[in-house]
Amino acid sequence: MHELAVTQSIMEIAQRHARQAGAQRILAIHLVIGELTGFVDDSIQFYFDVLSKGSLAEGARLEFERIGARVRCHGCQAEYAPPDSRLWTCPSCGALGGEIVAGKEFYVASIEIES
Ligand SMILES: [Zn+2]
Repeated sequence: MHELAVTQSIMEIAQRHARQAGAQRILAIHLVIGELTGFVDDSIQFYFDVLSKGSLAEGARLEFERIGARVRCHGCQAEYAPPDSRLWTCPSCGALGGEIVAGKEFYVASIEIES
């Protein structure tokens, strides 16, 4: 499960920012996650609950913002949302595959702190 590694990096980022801001506690962490990353909210929440114990982030609320997949067709340049993340067929020309233009995002957008 790669959610463990990403949750560790979320914790590091959030705690670094909180310390820089002189925070006593992290109240919420706002995450942006693309559909194509395959990360599961519940798994991140699970690891977060375990890893955050005793840290500045203990009890913080995780907020997930999901970004849907968008693909640009190699054949006709049309952009479309693939109905299935494993099978990309252009709705305009029927070509398979394409370039990912959205859906691979993964970052900490903001944190709420108590100072
Ligand atoms: Zn096309």
